[in-house]
Amino acid sequence: MNTAHPKYISLYQSGELARRAKRLEARLAACDICPRACRVNRLIGEPGFCHSGLRPIVASFCDHHGEEPVLSGSRGSGTIFFGNCNLRCVYCQNFQISQDWQRQRANEVDCHRLAEIMLKLQAAGCHNINLVSPSHFVPQILLALVKVVPRGLGLPIVYNSNSYDAMETLVELDGVIDIYLPDLKYASDTTAKELSDAVNYVGHARSAIGEMYRQVGELVVDSSGVAQRGVIVRHLILPNGLAGSRQSLGWLAGEVSTSVSVSLMSQYHPTHRAHQYPLLSRRILLSEYEDVLETMNQLGLTSGWAQGMASHRLYLPDFERHGHPFLIEH
Ligand code: SF4
Repeated sequence: MNTAHPKYISLYQSGELARRAKRLEARLAACDICPRACRVNRLIGEPGFCHSGLRPIVASFCDHHGEEPVLSGSRGSGTIFFGNCNLRCVYCQNFQISQDWQRQRANEVDCHRLAEIMLKLQAAGCHNINLVSPSHFVPQILLALVKVVPRGLGLPIVYNSNSYDAMETLVELDGVIDIYLPDLKYASDTTAKELSDAVNYVGHARSAIGEMYRQVGELVVDSSGVAQRGVIVRHLILPNGLAGSRQSLGWLAGEVSTSVSVSLMSQYHPTHRAHQYPLLSRRILLSEYEDVLETMNQLGLTSGWAQGMASHRLYLPDFERHGHPFLIEH
């Protein structure tokens, strides 16, 4: 069931995985792990924008059956939700764990525990290790992998990020990450600043997705239809055209590939502080959804998935619900 995965295992065997983990850990002393480059010393707990220090924060982990079918398969995606974030989206569906850094202190673990969680998800039969919001914890993830590879971890690693990733960090992940699952959130830096407090999101995200595609290319699945490698770009449709869907998807088709897999998400639901923003205070309309689908067809982006319009109830997590954050469990 859990076949050895040669790429990161060979990086481990050559010592390269440990060298990269150490290089990344050293950068925490003047943190530039993500594009914010706060330059705080996280080794001694100085807080940067993400309010995260040396120890990784695991807010939740579970077998997730609501990811794209190639990730959830029949046994679930082994999902690890990291606490805190390097964005501050006013409509974040995970706001309970992404923006309440005082409470997230209780979820600090160490790299040994992170490694144990990975093994636990593998033992539960999950198809992959799905790292959700990993951008601010890349050094800690590699330190955990160095511990867990000799103990038999052999699942594909999924990097499920908002794409606000630094190039210098992504190059260290070449050969480590099997499947990239990046968001393509905006086509306007002004909107990204207003809604996610991110400077130059568009440039950083597009560079990041280009690098991810360079590393792992198009989606490859096994004989059961479960993903083994490749990029799946997620695009969440926002109301009133705020996601810049036409421009974002046009860039993807023109500058990356029309063969890249796209996961079109219709689950937007006003949550967190969205009601303070009139343009964000409703769900998307059927006409907005159909417009984006039509745009994808026109652009030749035909690989991937589109959520149905009634999906928001199933996909919105509640991290305070006992047992499992999602209504979809099996
Ligand atoms: S990872 Fe956190 S501390 Fe480091 S640059 Fe990004 S936001 Fe700042």
